[in-house]
Amino acid sequence: MKKFFLFTLSILLSTSCFSFELRSPVKEGGLTYGKLDKDEKLYLDNQEIKATKSGFFFFGLPQDATQLTLTLIKNNKKTKLTFPVQKQKWQEEYISGLQQDKVSPTNKNQERIQKENLLIKKARDNFNQNYFPFCFDRPVKNFKRISSPFGTRRILNNIKKAGHSGVDYAAPIGTKIFAPADGIVALVHQDMFLSGKTLLINHGFGLFSSYSHLNKITVKEGKKIKRGELIAEIGNTGRSTGPHLHYVITWQGVRLDPEQLINDFSCSKK
Ligand SMILES: [Zn+2]
Repeated sequence: MKKFFLFTLSILLSTSCFSFELRSPVKEGGLTYGKLDKDEKLYLDNQEIKATKSGFFFFGLPQDATQLTLTLIKNNKKTKLTFPVQKQKWQEEYISGLQQDKVSPTNKNQERIQKENLLIKKARDNFNQNYFPFCFDRPVKNFKRISSPFGTRRILNNIKKAGHSGVDYAAPIGTKIFAPADGIVALVHQDMFLSGKTLLINHGFGLFSSYSHLNKITVKEGKKIKRGELIAEIGNTGRSTGPHLHYVITWQGVRLDPEQLINDFSCSKK
């Protein structure tokens, strides 16, 4: 905690009439954090941003965020604060040769995908607030390359898809995956149509990490885990063109850029 606090103080931006502080700059697809006083409340759109007992909070911004507007309430007085959002560069990528039924799934498979997505959504809704992950490491140490960064606009068999929801680390089957931060295992699924063997971890305050196309999952649902603990192995299950980890981070359902989080919050040597 000490390390985090020092780091925070050096880059916080303070507003004059409040003790409210926010880390700056805020970035597209990024996680940002700050500190509130006990008598201050913070809202992003209509959603209250909960803080820890000592006043720390964080929130994430989507890939296409242009401006950040926060509402701060103190002594029944509302104040709107607007911050510019720093633009990031996103790529485009062409993929061909995927099985046609996985690019445009049949009705039956579409039903299955919806059911499986609901399982993930339900697990993400059920978040506790006991954790506050101020360290966020890269979950794989030995990978060949990033085969697809977060936010990449994908064109699968000539069909344009939404921006890539996570980052892909290409590595041989069996490569070890470690927990990036403390948390609790929210979901273990052995065979999802798109993501194959799938693992979801709850890091608290609405922050989740998920791991797809796994070869093996070494933790059980409901287990508390520590940063750096072995959780799974890279595989090639589900919709996948080669062994890799599809790694997704969400805050309250908003997809964030994992590599940005690693740059900003990693506590281990890269
Ligand atoms: Zn991916």
